[in-house]
Amino acid sequence: MATHTWAEPYKIKAVELIRMTTREQREEAIREAGYNTFLLRSEDVYIDLLTDSGCGAMSDRQWAGMMCGDEAYAGSKNFYHLRDTIENYYSYKHTVPTHQGRGAEHILSQTLISEGDFVPGNMYFTTTRYHQELAGGTFVDVIIDEAHDAESEHPFKGNVDIEKLDALVERVGAENIPYVCIATCVNMAGGQPLSLANLRQVRLWCDKHGVLLVHDMTRVAENAYFIQCREPAYRDRTVREIVYEICSLTDIATMSAKKDALVNIGGFLAMNDEKLYEKACALVVVYEGLHTYGGMAGRDMEALAIGITESVDDDHIRARVGQVEYLGAALQRAGVPIVTPVGGHAVFLDALRILPHIPQDCFPAQALAAALYEESGVRSMERGVISAGRNKDSGENYMPKLELVRLTIPRRVYTQAHMDVTAAAVIRVAEVAETISGLRFVYEPEMLRFFQARFERRQAGEVKQRDTSAR
Ligand SMILES: *Cc1c(COP(=O)(O)O)cnc(C)c1O
Repeated sequence: MATHTWAEPYKIKAVELIRMTTREQREEAIREAGYNTFLLRSEDVYIDLLTDSGCGAMSDRQWAGMMCGDEAYAGSKNFYHLRDTIENYYSYKHTVPTHQGRGAEHILSQTLISEGDFVPGNMYFTTTRYHQELAGGTFVDVIIDEAHDAESEHPFKGNVDIEKLDALVERVGAENIPYVCIATCVNMAGGQPLSLANLRQVRLWCDKHGVLLVHDMTRVAENAYFIQCREPAYRDRTVREIVYEICSLTDIATMSAKKDALVNIGGFLAMNDEKLYEKACALVVVYEGLHTYGGMAGRDMEALAIGITESVDDDHIRARVGQVEYLGAALQRAGVPIVTPVGGHAVFLDALRILPHIPQDCFPAQALAAALYEESGVRSMERGVISAGRNKDSGENYMPKLELVRLTIPRRVYTQAHMDVTAAAVIRVAEVAETISGLRFVYEPEMLRFFQARFERRQAGEVKQRDTSAR
């Protein structure tokens, strides 16, 4: 519809002031942070594109809901409101609230995975894979090959390669696969959707082999929007309808409500199976809290119930993804290499193409994120070899094909002018790329190292030619 732009379907009622720093201050701040943008203070950041997690703006209705928190220890009315909303919008009958997504992943992994199991998924996510490994499982990547190619224009780079599932079942047997885990709008692939046609195939595969289907639904609304845009059969369906259909093809869901669902904290594990719900309730009281609040306050459950209804609104999601595409288009016009098509929540810079002189074991994406901050005060995040971590058996670094810097757009927070400033900063950094040098670890945490690792700069002359045969 020509009359529809991505203009925001809201107006601004309260603002939070931000401040610009000098280059000198930023050089000092990033050095003190060990060249890790996770270790910067928020006050030293001008435009914060570290993540879209928990940093969205709530609506006036959500804030009004916060005042209606029923903080009873047991049986809060907000829990029932949340549970009913999840069933209405997402189809799942039983809900276990958790403090955030990883709380749900923990309970799910401990409930379903046994030592020696294999868990296939459409690309790994950091916390998801870590909880699978803690429970004794091994993650197996079954996403289509195009997902690992930053330049592929495939419209559904989040799709599962059914042949890879077949090969896995051949190798290890269905009895050692507790479930297939599919993520909607795959974060690590660049916010790339899967199609409903593909999801139906995965459903059939799971039914054939008696394997459960788990849905990491953190970005389900963004995925549904791409289906509406790109899968012709769904052109006339609402995002809300598509979201419901995606969910009803799966058995169990984990949710980080800090993303699509528009709240600052919270998550849940949801499912249809009664027995599984009982097991999850038994574990949630150990690790989170009573099953009617899990890890959440009553007021937060209320804000979440309202956030879910707002998140599937067509105008909301068009504006949300439209803003991300606006930033992506500005960078593409300037010839900055990014992952295409542009994803739902972020623009991903291709660090291997921007910094071809830095070998992957000198962490080009980490170095690029630090340089962007120094240049402009824009905070981004590494999604490459640091995030990938080490193989738990061999201790070797995983060397992912994608070595990316993520510019993640919080929901309903920044304006078009902020996107223009960001694009200009990235373009300036790309112009002086050859002056950026690689990094080395000075502190490497054992688990989820990207959060707290510290680095120092290598000397420019120290950088060896990248060995492309390694990839
Ligand atoms: C953020 C995220 C998680 C983990 O959720 P938290 O709320 O951060 O604990 C899991 N899966 C995906 C795809 C995510 O983006």
